[in-house]
Amino acid sequence: MMYDDNFGDYQCDDNAQDREDTAAFYRHVQRNSVLKTCSICGRKVRLLPHYDKCDSCCRKIENGWQF
Ligand SMILES: [Zn+2]
Repeated sequence: MMYDDNFGDYQCDDNAQDREDTAAFYRHVQRNSVLKTCSICGRKVRLLPHYDKCDSCCRKIENGWQF
């Protein structure tokens, strides 16, 4: 299971090509991520430069939480 603070769990189909594509994307995201402070929960997380919220906070927003 691949996980990061940008996208949370990485879902992929159960075939070798899709697993490889997903793994390559995950490595790309990891390489380009920088240490940031989430603007909502204040945790230190590794995020892509144009992101400022961690995955768990984004999920809460999607689920209707107000901050
Ligand atoms: Zn957060």
